[in-house]
Amino acid sequence: MKYYILFGPPGAGKGTQSLLLTEKYNFIHISTGQLLRDEIANGTKIGQIAKEVIDKGKFVEDQLILEIIDKQICRAPQGTKGFIFDGFPRTISQASAFDKILTDYGNKEINAVLSLEVADELIVERIQKRARIEGREDDSSIETILRRIKTYHSKTEPLIAYYKERGKYYPVRGELSVEEIFNNICKIIDKI
Ligand code: AMP
Repeated sequence: MKYYILFGPPGAGKGTQSLLLTEKYNFIHISTGQLLRDEIANGTKIGQIAKEVIDKGKFVEDQLILEIIDKQICRAPQGTKGFIFDGFPRTISQASAFDKILTDYGNKEINAVLSLEVADELIVERIQKRARIEGREDDSSIETILRRIKTYHSKTEPLIAYYKERGKYYPVRGELSVEEIFNNICKIIDKI
């Protein structure tokens, strides 16, 4: 079983690349953001809690996210070859809790963190384009977009050092075309 994290700021293209990778390698795609949006659409209790936080561009609390992750991993059908985690982990505490979940789950560990590196200016442009296509509420105001980018820098970016120290960090140039990025990610996956 392989465990890959697709890492990067909001709007880096993690969702697009995840879908291409699941198609090619038959992996399971776990997007915490999408799972939360599904909870919101279904009007669940988790959805109600999450909506308020997401609309402000803040993070949902770790405990809730970890429960979602645990459930998704356990639910994977027999014969699953691997997972792509998209938008998780987003904090150091999520990353260390995730390491523990994988250790407890049969002494497993992350295979690679595939990191889409994109400059802030390009992120804003891409999120505004996505807003016109997908209509996500948390993409709709520039204040929320900028808050999310700020939260990314303060809370998520420290994960780069965390995974570099563990020899798991693989940077990918995120300003290239979808196809070029996909080919570069596949090269890394096929090599390790
Ligand atoms: P995404 O679709 O990954 O951009 O996530 C959309 C929103 O869901 C984020 O801005 C957060 O508010 C929330 N979210 C998604 N994943 C996480 C996570 N791992 N930890 C905390 N909040 C999250």
